[in-house]
Amino acid sequence: MRSFTHINAGTVHETCALLSKYNGKAVLNAGGTDLLSTLKGEHLFDYPEAVINTKTISGLDYIREDGGVLEIGALAKLSEIVKSPLLKKNYMALVEAARSVATPQIRNAATMGGNLCQDVRCWYYRYPRHIGGPIRCLRKGSGPCLAVKGDNRYHAIMGGRRCFAVCPSDTAVALVALDAQITIAGPKGERKIAMIDFYSPLGNALKKDEMVTGITVPRITGPMKQRYLKFALRKPVDFAIVGVASVIAIEEGVCTDVRIALGAVAPGVVRARRAEETLRGCYINEDIVSQAAEEALAGARPLSMNAYKVEITKTLVKRAILI
Ligand SMILES: Cc1cc2nc3c(=O)[nH]c(=O)nc-3n(C[C@H](O)[C@H](O)[C@H](O)COP(=O)(O)OP(=O)(O)OC[C@H]3O[C@@H](n4cnc5c(N)ncnc54)[C@H](O)[C@@H]3O)c2cc1C
Ligand code: SF4
Repeated sequence: MRSFTHINAGTVHETCALLSKYNGKAVLNAGGTDLLSTLKGEHLFDYPEAVINTKTISGLDYIREDGGVLEIGALAKLSEIVKSPLLKKNYMALVEAARSVATPQIRNAATMGGNLCQDVRCWYYRYPRHIGGPIRCLRKGSGPCLAVKGDNRYHAIMGGRRCFAVCPSDTAVALVALDAQITIAGPKGERKIAMIDFYSPLGNALKKDEMVTGITVPRITGPMKQRYLKFALRKPVDFAIVGVASVIAIEEGVCTDVRIALGAVAPGVVRARRAEETLRGCYINEDIVSQAAEEALAGARPLSMNAYKVEITKTLVKRAILI
């Protein structure tokens, strides 16, 4: 690890001012579970001059409901999300997603904002300096995408055009199914965008001087069955090969409303809108759910080594609706 200036931030405003001052040469440190491995591995070509500790900002770790709208602060720990009685009552998809992240120790340190903003896990991108890295690639600004011709077994099966690294966040998938918005603060104030629009092919929607301050989930009207299902190799601690979140309202066997989100299949989270349209207004049985699962994956274009993810995703979509 190289040396850097360490700053304890007092407020969101101060944090954004510091990000602005350092003009891309400062990074935020929340729980540090992702950032510290980036700093130690030195797999990026740019090394930060300053690390801004956001844990010293008070009041950003809330989990509350205001007028039926759920609000979670960027500094809420994943372990608190897992334990929260409020979330267990109405937002089970998010609880299941947070519970599926890593280990209890990591969930005790990792924050909501950090989980959403964590960097990708592509092994070419993360190849450490001390064993021959860093490796240049498109996401780092120059060179080809090495996953296209290389070992791409964990990469995107849809939506990848220039970079095929998948969004690694489990909670983002549940939040998209819950139709959440993400609140972003910058020197000029706050803005909100839909969670589904947060990720871009080479990163996310944050500008150099912005940070995430929290998420909001709109009021849930009526009973909705919620699931987050994840397929991972090492079940107690591993990133998703595929994650699927569903939020569905069923009245007398008929689907009246549904949202399905697919994770770890694309650079961002994917809404399976055609599958949702197929299910809406229909009596839920195995046939219609199988048809919906096919439609959810109709846009899949697997790379040379990851076609297996298509079948796993279809299976998780079916299970999320039927079980
Ligand atoms: C062994 C292991 C297994 C894991 N398994 C999973 C898994 O199964 N599923 C999963 O989803 N994740 C997994 N992770 C990743 C883990 O969830 C993340 O490291 C963690 O959620 C990041 O949160 P943090 O608060 O520690 O973020 P940090 O490490 O502090 O920050 C991560 C990144 O986000 C940025 N950042 C932090 N907060 C903000 C903010 N408020 N606004 C803008 N940018 C911000 C930082 O600058 C940094 O770039 C795993 C990690 C490890 C080490
Ligand atoms: S998938 Fe993305 S991060 Fe990985 S090598 Fe290709 S461009 Fe780089």
